Amino acid sequence: MTKKAIVLGAGGFIGGNLINRLKKEGYWVRGVDLKRNEYGNDAADDFVLVDLSNTSFCESIMDRGFGEVYQLAADMGGAGYIFTGEHDADVMRNSVLCNVNTLEACKNHQIPKIFYSSSACIYPEYNQLDPDNPKCSEESAYPAAPDSEYGWEKLFSERLYLSYQRNYGIKVRIARFHNIFGPMGTWTGGKEKAPAAMCRKVAEAKDGTYIEVWGDGVQTRSFLYIDECLEAVRRLMESDFSGPVNIGSEEMIAINDFAKMTIEISGKKLSIKNIKGPTGVRGRNSDNHLLLEKLGWRPSQPLKKGMIETYTWISSQVREAANKVLITNET
Ligand code: NAD
Repeated sequence: MTKKAIVLGAGGFIGGNLINRLKKEGYWVRGVDLKRNEYGNDAADDFVLVDLSNTSFCESIMDRGFGEVYQLAADMGGAGYIFTGEHDADVMRNSVLCNVNTLEACKNHQIPKIFYSSSACIYPEYNQLDPDNPKCSEESAYPAAPDSEYGWEKLFSERLYLSYQRNYGIKVRIARFHNIFGPMGTWTGGKEKAPAAMCRKVAEAKDGTYIEVWGDGVQTRSFLYIDECLEAVRRLMESDFSGPVNIGSEEMIAINDFAKMTIEISGKKLSIKNIKGPTGVRGRNSDNHLLLEKLGWRPSQPLKKGMIETYTWISSQVREAANKVLITNET
């Protein structure tokens, strides 16, 4: 019998790619979001446009005897969106309602298994003060001290999912994603994350000029390519392990070095100007010991390979956008 899955947040970057992955595996897939994927990147059999923060809308979409739910819907963005404090109430309200409604609907429709996308942003700030030695092993999440309301909501929701597993027997799988990137993600408009923002800045810069990088550039991060993220999600879903478990890369890089890598990929001659901006914690890296222990697998693709793919796509988007402006100005 064909397996049926429902992907919430299907109009987003990871959701759209997850649908394509599930389709390749032979699933019948329903996508759900407030909007369709802006790059047409989903091959869903059925797509429902609803607001999951509305209880009855959320209830209405779970009606097909689904065996698996993937809950990726959230109000999120890069540092410019989640670390300024300007969106805190919307981020927390929207995401917590989506999660409560999803779990209630799963319970009412007896859906056996649900995946929840948590984040590296749940890790305490006090373990991420040294850019060269961040600590992000799963058990280090407590005593809790995330540096954003987005992180606090994710941590609360992890506990919410585990409570439904404990009290209602729904199988739960929780991943803490660390900076997932790749082509066909948000690259402009304020919600883009560091890899996309870096590619856009470099693609837009004229040879011989500079790009602006937030902070002193010494802050560190790791970035995981979308295909490896999806491999880990599917392995987690098929495993007996509930998590939470990190899904990220262990290839940590300082942000200025990341900028230099992007500039090198572009072939341009550009310098870096460090400016004030929201940066989040000083250092962060995925710790994949638990992932390897529980799933017998860890990501291995070099960061540069994924960045070449991503830069190629974003620079074509930048060119396309510039051509549109040119045509509009000429007519
Ligand atoms: P995204 O912003 O591209 O996708 C999220 C989608 O959720 C959007 O399409 C949005 O419209 C939808 N959504 C938000 N509120 C909704 C609502 N009320 N009803 C219906 N749909 C709603 O984000 P993404 O990068 O694909 O991330 C997916 C998930 O993974 C999110 O939960 C995010 O917090 C988590 N995550 C992502 C990363 C990353 O690096 N991309 C890192 C950590 C955690």
